[in-house]
Amino acid sequence: MNSIAPKAVVFDLGKVLLDFNYARAARAMAPLSRVDEDAFRLALDQSPLLMRFETGHLTPQEMFDEVVRTTGYRGEFAAFAAAFGDIFTEIPEMIDLHASIQATGRPTYIFSNTNGLAVEYIHRRYPFFRTFSGYVYSHEVRCMKPQPDIYAAVEKMSGCRGAELLYIDDREENVLAGVGRTWQVIHHVSVPTTVATVRQRLGLPHPTSP
Ligand SMILES: [Mg+2]
Repeated sequence: MNSIAPKAVVFDLGKVLLDFNYARAARAMAPLSRVDEDAFRLALDQSPLLMRFETGHLTPQEMFDEVVRTTGYRGEFAAFAAAFGDIFTEIPEMIDLHASIQATGRPTYIFSNTNGLAVEYIHRRYPFFRTFSGYVYSHEVRCMKPQPDIYAAVEKMSGCRGAELLYIDDREENVLAGVGRTWQVIHHVSVPTTVATVRQRLGLPHPTSP
């Protein structure tokens, strides 16, 4: 049982603050390729390619070249980058929760397995995303959650460790790696439960009804 109040809050991005669906990118790009939407989506999100991209072993241009090679995509790089980024939908209650945490003066961090194309797109498109105290990205650290080095990068950036950190992630293996470092964690399964749990752990006032 963790009794200390967390000093900083660490957010996973995908499926916590933003939902995402690679089918949207596949729908936009498949007509300009030799494969159908399903095959295009698999080429994007089920291939070892994405893992190499998200661990910083491929540049955006190299990712593009590989997708061209495997799908026959005939669009320009700019169209590819736009479609690859345009897969996100905001989760408003979680974005509001982040704003209420910030209002308490606690630092907040983004902690994400991601890539340069997604980050550039999200930074441009979503103002809330620009307001975090720091960002730890797999493609910059060159390893992915749940590997230990990327958790160490969060501790280093925040200057916090153990139960000083409260970490929210939808993937159980990622959360368990946080438990292993004695972080406080929330395995994000439902928005209402996560919002209530964070409010209780941080002693946030209940939001006033409209
Ligand atoms: Mg996630």
